[in-house]
Amino acid sequence: MSSTVIAVGGHIGDMELTAGPTLAKAVLEGGRAIIVDCTYGERGHPTIAPSVYRAQKVDEARFFADAIGAEVVTLDYSDGFLPDTDDVAEQIAAIIRDAKPDLLITHWLHSMHRDHERAAQTALRAAFLASIPIEEIDTPRHSVPAILHAENWEDMEGFEADTFFEIPDAAYDRWRTGIERHAFARGETYGFRYIDYYSALMEVKGCLAGCRRAAAFKTSSHEKFTLAGP
Ligand SMILES: [Zn+2]
Repeated sequence: MSSTVIAVGGHIGDMELTAGPTLAKAVLEGGRAIIVDCTYGERGHPTIAPSVYRAQKVDEARFFADAIGAEVVTLDYSDGFLPDTDDVAEQIAAIIRDAKPDLLITHWLHSMHRDHERAAQTALRAAFLASIPIEEIDTPRHSVPAILHAENWEDMEGFEADTFFEIPDAAYDRWRTGIERHAFARGETYGFRYIDYYSALMEVKGCLAGCRRAAAFKTSSHEKFTLAGP
């Protein structure tokens, strides 16, 4: 998997948790990984003020990206208020045209969080916008060859995994180092044991895929609509 992978999430931490092991693997295999967090996720702490938690989230995102060798871009939108506009999609499309990813990962389309649903829809829209010729934009268009939705316990309505990537120990270890910096993942915000959940999930999916650990995804049925002609 010596390839370029872009992961688009609703909040800082979402793609780090769910796509992170696969991104770490891509980097270890000589590829490039870019995490696009659409909002800061700054309203996710019950006692720390959003303005303070936002700075902590940015630090956590940077630490995670360094730990797995990825790049991170945080769009300047507020947790809970991600707009579903072409303006957001065009910002992501610009990153796609520039990086020319082989794979785009985002949330599943149905979630308990509106920001997750909007991030997923916007990522698909961005893939479409990046694939069509727009004469006002100098960077050549790019059709993303593959789009996958990451498994996330918050986005499970109608989710059915059909794609599994083996996660080697080295990728798991880098992911674990990075994700342990995230306070919410350690269970310090609302108590959900994210790291335990996703570590166990990778073991369960590994049982199904015939390896120690695996990450599960659902192929986007929207690919055929987002890919323009050759
Ligand atoms: Zn989230």
